[in-house]
Amino acid sequence: MVLGESMKNCPDRAFKPAHAAGRLLAPVLISLALMAGCDKASPDQAAAVQQQAEAQKQQAELQQQQLGIQKQFTESVNAADLAAVRTALSLYYNDHEGLYPENIEALVPQYLPLGIPFNRLEEHGKSNAVQNMSGEDFKAGRFTDAGGWAYVNTSADPMMLGRFVINCTHGSNINTLEGKPWTAL
Ligand SMILES: [Zn+2]
Repeated sequence: MVLGESMKNCPDRAFKPAHAAGRLLAPVLISLALMAGCDKASPDQAAAVQQQAEAQKQQAELQQQQLGIQKQFTESVNAADLAAVRTALSLYYNDHEGLYPENIEALVPQYLPLGIPFNRLEEHGKSNAVQNMSGEDFKAGRFTDAGGWAYVNTSADPMMLGRFVINCTHGSNINTLEGKPWTAL
């Protein structure tokens, strides 16, 4: 800022808020003063600006906390939906003499009356798409990492059949899984 003749015309009174209303106006007055070429700020104004910055910081921290709570909530919903589909799979398995369905759609509506649940992942958004994969691909970690779910419907190893996970190799912050990929849940 070039300080010139306009400095001389700066009315000092305008920068000295003497009461609460004045303090609220202080940032505005300072902005106007700076625009007019005046940058003499009194300690009062400096305090007001700092208070305003502090209030903004607190607001930002609060928003950050709310986002954290939202994330935790989303993660527990994902975990609950994962558990619901796994329960549906084991019910199907029991009813079908030790066979898992060819695909997850086969669980709807009898075992999943509300359909295949949608999960919500920070990196992929909302999805209920299912990656069908072999047990060998599962063991090798060949997930498409596209969000939604991954399901092992073929395998040379019968022990691998019926695996069902969240199709995301990004890290989860869920309490029991700090930093591990969603697929490990
Ligand atoms: Zn991912």
